[in-house]
Amino acid sequence: MNFVHDPLTPRVLFGPGVLQALPSELGRLGLKRVLVISTLEQRGLAELVSDHISERVAGFFDRATMHVPAPIVEDAVSMARDLGIDGYVAAGGGSTIGLAKMLALQSSLPILAIPTTYAGSEMTSIFGITESELKRTGRDKRVLPRTVIYDPELTLSLPSSISVTSGVNAIAHAVEGLYAPEINPILSIMAQQGIAALAKAIPKIRIKPADLKARSDALYGAWMCGSVLGNVSMALHHKLCHTLGGTFNLPHAETHTIILPHALAYNSPAIPTAIKLLQEALSILDPARALYDLAKSNGAPVSLRSIGMKEADLGRACDLVMSAQYPNPRPLEKRAIAGLLRRAYFGQTPQP
Ligand code: NAD
Repeated sequence: MNFVHDPLTPRVLFGPGVLQALPSELGRLGLKRVLVISTLEQRGLAELVSDHISERVAGFFDRATMHVPAPIVEDAVSMARDLGIDGYVAAGGGSTIGLAKMLALQSSLPILAIPTTYAGSEMTSIFGITESELKRTGRDKRVLPRTVIYDPELTLSLPSSISVTSGVNAIAHAVEGLYAPEINPILSIMAQQGIAALAKAIPKIRIKPADLKARSDALYGAWMCGSVLGNVSMALHHKLCHTLGGTFNLPHAETHTIILPHALAYNSPAIPTAIKLLQEALSILDPARALYDLAKSNGAPVSLRSIGMKEADLGRACDLVMSAQYPNPRPLEKRAIAGLLRRAYFGQTPQP
């Protein structure tokens, strides 16, 4: 067996109550004047975080927004410059961490991330910014957080509907990782662990959002899945979601949740090893169908029409997906991709 494992990873602190370590972690990074970043909805969380480090907080920027719009980045850059900060504390989901990444890209200052969803952005060097309705992404080591504090207590407030879609979004990273060219035995184990942990935790969180054990399992799974994403290249599933989200302004985690079973079913004839690993992780014969059922039985959307896509846009979506050239285990076949999109649009079960 020959492989390369060259992990790109931040320092991680994990566990309920681990937020207490924030002051010492900032000290470890030598940070004395940080900008605390959050969404407006999570301003309370940003203030809770700052209670631990008040003497080191230079200011708050609470306008992090989905898909990282360029004007918001400009405002945050100018605030950071005026305050003369030396680093960022990003407390929130992928939108908040995404904004911190754009700031780190421009300033090369370090990020300490405190994730509160399962999106997994904190484990990757992938950044993204949306300008004139076009989302541009790239990879740069400067945007990878130096330290990540995973405190499951901070996820107890994540509404159960977002928890389900955010959890499936995380699973999608690991599923695509399992058939990526860079996959190796270590990343396979992480992908299987992450998928299994999330698939078990999601139904428990749906029933009881305050179940701290299930929240811990889900956040652990998100960490594993995000780590896989950070170390592999992505294929059909992520490219489809990127196109649909960017061009038709569809919500991120919901789009991933809807597309994942269909993209997996499409690729399944070409990825026997990944399917075997998924069967083991999910203890089920048909992983694509299992992921569809996981979403549906936990109240998540399973159709693109239910999240605002128009049927008239299916043809354009198919053309856009076909026009982008990227590696995928099964070659892109226009008729089959059109069928995939139609099934996803109407919420039908996945087919190869
Ligand atoms: P999000 O960050 O927009 O959060 C969704 C909503 O949940 C927000 O209103 C937020 O304030 C709220 N929220 C978050 N945590 C909460 C909590 N614990 N309690 C209550 N409310 C909470 O959504 P997301 O799905 O985490 O992130 C999506 C974004 O992340 C997309 O822009 C996507 O492109 C990006 N992303 C990037 C990467 C990467 O590697 N670069 C990976 C995954 C996702």
